[in-house]
Amino acid sequence: MSKQIHVGPVAVGGGAPVSIQSMCNTPTQDVRATVDQILALEKAGCQIIRVAVPDMDAARAISAIKAEIHIPLVADIHFDYRLALECAARGIDKIRINPGNIGSHDRVRAVADACRERGIPIRIGVNGGSLEKDLLAKYGGVTAEALVESAMGHVHLLEDCGFDHICISVKCSRVAVNMAAYQMLHEQTQYPLHLGVTEAGNPAMGELKSAIGIGGLLCLGIGDTLRVSLTADPVEEIYAAKRILTAAGIRQTGPNLISCPTCGRTKYDMIPIAREVERRLQNCTKPITVAVMGCVVNGPGEASAADVGIAGGVGEGLVFSKGKILYKVPQERLVDALMEEIDKL
Ligand code: SF4
Repeated sequence: MSKQIHVGPVAVGGGAPVSIQSMCNTPTQDVRATVDQILALEKAGCQIIRVAVPDMDAARAISAIKAEIHIPLVADIHFDYRLALECAARGIDKIRINPGNIGSHDRVRAVADACRERGIPIRIGVNGGSLEKDLLAKYGGVTAEALVESAMGHVHLLEDCGFDHICISVKCSRVAVNMAAYQMLHEQTQYPLHLGVTEAGNPAMGELKSAIGIGGLLCLGIGDTLRVSLTADPVEEIYAAKRILTAAGIRQTGPNLISCPTCGRTKYDMIPIAREVERRLQNCTKPITVAVMGCVVNGPGEASAADVGIAGGVGEGLVFSKGKILYKVPQERLVDALMEEIDKL
């Protein structure tokens, strides 16, 4: 089992539930826009949120943002150790920084000391796109071995400063390399692992890559927290993360929607209805199974595992629970009736 760290009040690793993260795409110094985005992400189910801190204006915004949000805040810092010190002083909950990129040992020690004093963990975030040149030359490109060697090099720099409140990510846009790297890291270290497939792309393909790359590792018992990276509104990342956790059977963060593929027995326009049910359930947190089925003859039986479900017919449909029919409703009332039954659960 991995070592446990705490990001604010959220436990990561050591058997804690896998937590969902995202990253704002607002300018961090625009406190209003950033807070509004974080509040929307909280509502969707985000548990840890990261902001870019490219300069001192962004670092100085940390305390004002923290004052208005309810989930732990992470500062993403690339090269300037002074930004890390400023964020630490302003109450940040975690810092993502690679100590090998910030210069002298004194700077690394200054960051490690500031974080240790305040109980702030550090994420080492290695990315395939920014691997050290010597490792690229040694391994002939971005490989799992190169990602892991880079990450462990940064880890050792922090450990040399007596700092071990660490989590690690080794992200790459090639899913197979990504997965191999995390598997190697899992063998080599007890630190909790932050999973992600970087530059995963637009929502459809990005979620698919993440489902394989993140969900596959979670099914192997690897990974403690995750971010799905999508070229989209960050709220979409949270919905995708919840779907991946549910699909992998790791943590049901809301309803598990099951629906049949439709077939020649389907007598109503079911596909838009299934989509509408999915849309209405996006913010529901009940760990239930909901079914949308294509026919009244086989639907209730095929979805007998569902806590509640609907099956459409000609002009009217059925609402059912655990395979038993509850009542009939006119077709146009089907989705509303389903929602009413879910409200009662
Ligand atoms: S539930 Fe009915 S419509 Fe859906 S796949 Fe089964 S038989 Fe076909």
